[in-house]
Amino acid sequence: MLVTNKIAKWVVNFADRFNPVDTVGVAIWPFVFIWPKIYSQNLMLVRHEQKHLEQWRRYWIVGFLPVYLWYYLRYGYTDNPLEVEARAAERA
Ligand SMILES: [Zn+2]
Repeated sequence: MLVTNKIAKWVVNFADRFNPVDTVGVAIWPFVFIWPKIYSQNLMLVRHEQKHLEQWRRYWIVGFLPVYLWYYLRYGYTDNPLEVEARAAERA
């Protein structure tokens, strides 16, 4: 479920504090938050975030954040295997 309102702005700006790259999208199952709204037109970004939603389901929702954070601490943002997979999905 796509969210592009002020709540999306808050969520994206919060996530941006922890990212080395500019954050414009965040997937928190079952939502995809995108801000600024114009980026919701970006197919690569939408595919990236949809892959994250698929990952949420893969880890039974409750398992996603612990797995993501573990990878984040171990590999950093860019080399986090869940991010590598999401980036690969952008061009699928
Ligand atoms: Zn991502």
